[in-house]
Amino acid sequence: MADNPSSPVLTDRFGRRIDYVRLSVTDRCDLRCRYCMAEEMSFLPKTQILTLDEIGVIADRFIRRGVRRIRLSGGEPLVRRDFTELAHRIGRNIGHGLDELTLTTNGTQLARFAGDLHAAGMRRINVSLDSLKAEVFAHISRRDRLAEVLEGITVASAEGLAIKINMVVMRGVNDGEVLDMLRWCGAHDHDLTLIETMPLGQVSDDRTNHYMPLHEAIAPVRAAYDIMPIDYHTGGPARYFSVEGLRTKLGLITPMSDNFCSGCNRMRLTCQGRIYMCLGHEDHVDLMSAFRAGGVDAVDALLDEALGAKPLRHDFAIGTGLAPATRRHMNVTGG
Ligand code: SAM
Ligand code: SF4
Repeated sequence: MADNPSSPVLTDRFGRRIDYVRLSVTDRCDLRCRYCMAEEMSFLPKTQILTLDEIGVIADRFIRRGVRRIRLSGGEPLVRRDFTELAHRIGRNIGHGLDELTLTTNGTQLARFAGDLHAAGMRRINVSLDSLKAEVFAHISRRDRLAEVLEGITVASAEGLAIKINMVVMRGVNDGEVLDMLRWCGAHDHDLTLIETMPLGQVSDDRTNHYMPLHEAIAPVRAAYDIMPIDYHTGGPARYFSVEGLRTKLGLITPMSDNFCSGCNRMRLTCQGRIYMCLGHEDHVDLMSAFRAGGVDAVDALLDEALGAKPLRHDFAIGTGLAPATRRHMNVTGG
């Protein structure tokens, strides 16, 4: 399917092959993480978001244009009704153009859906977990749901899903927990990726206060363990390290302190059907309108237009009292 000569693979004007797509299936969420959302959010009406069927058709077209990895995200993907039907539908392409289907979830509903996700062909998922302390988790996410997330992780592991924990490190909030989180991941066979907070969308907190470069956040790890860069890639932007004596890989995502855009292979489809070629830019194409007016053939032309608009890099900066780099929140774009 991916080798159809009339559907050339997606390559941008800087020669970067785009073979990884993140699809946000909803902007809604059952948590309100402080770095991601405000407490009071207005979500999009149903008519303004792609139906699951539309997402499925568009995903097929991406795969035909050479996309080999798809990550489903949100908002919280598992709060969208019938989400697992979409996972099954896309999962049928695994081995037929698609190498991998993955998910990023906050884990609150994982216990219920993990078996179905595995049946849909998923083998690895990312679960966001910023703290193992109930009160800190509740503070960050504004919801007291740590126990459900931990239960979800346990069930998902038992179903055969490899788990990578995503932890956004915030100074004065959870930076003191990095070492404990790493050891917990080691004890449970999970990998851990640390993320720097990014200035996406207006939230009520000032992120500048909490931003922490990861080289600082991992100082306690370096003091306790030898860590070595390893040649391991998951298609995303993390750089990975082995941690001597622990059964875990440590990934670092450093959009702020160490730009990684030169190797970018990604594009994002929002739940509104917009393609953003970069998390940090407002430029986008409106795939939903084109698709609803012109059907699936209109998708190809717009994909080419989107590629022409892909910028070389994002321009995030923090620490200078800056306004958000983008008006949209991460839950709309898909993390
Ligand atoms: N709800 C799911 C979850 O939390 O895993 C998927 C969507 S969430 C937007 C995807 C990832 O983006 C999460 O790991 C979250 O921690 C991260 N994220 C959200 N807002 C962010 C921000 N402003 N800076 C850095 N990471 C952010
Ligand atoms: Fe929801 Fe994920 Fe954003 Fe937290 S990071 S509010 S779980 S979308």
